[in-house]
Amino acid sequence: MKTLFEKIIDRDIPADFVYEDDLCIAINDINPQAPIHILLIPKKPIEKLSDCDDCDKDLLSHLFLTVGKITKKLDINNTFRVNINNGKGAGQEVFHLHIHILGGRKFNWPPG
Ligand code: 5GP
Repeated sequence: MKTLFEKIIDRDIPADFVYEDDLCIAINDINPQAPIHILLIPKKPIEKLSDCDDCDKDLLSHLFLTVGKITKKLDINNTFRVNINNGKGAGQEVFHLHIHILGGRKFNWPPG
């Protein structure tokens, strides 16, 4: 059974794409928590960050370098936040690894 994000990757479900390459996609979040709220999603359906292992190191490196490409393109390179919710207790709702990229406002610390 496909995850929600696999369905988006396969265009079974529509989404607002902002980036795509061989390894990942980036889409606008359907329920944005900031003026810019992008989800960067690997095409490989890894459930959560803690399921990654050594064989994912190139993919993880690619994802984080892609964050930089996207924030530069959107001109939010000086102020943005990345967030990964790992597991239910951390607020993860979609069990297909994704990086939240938030920008366009000030962010407080600590997060809730
Ligand atoms: P999580 O809570 O798993 O870290 O984040 C899941 C994110 O996916 C949430 O921010 C939620 O708004 C977003 N989301 C859920 N369903 C959809 C959808 O169908 N399309 C898009 N673009 N985002 C979604």
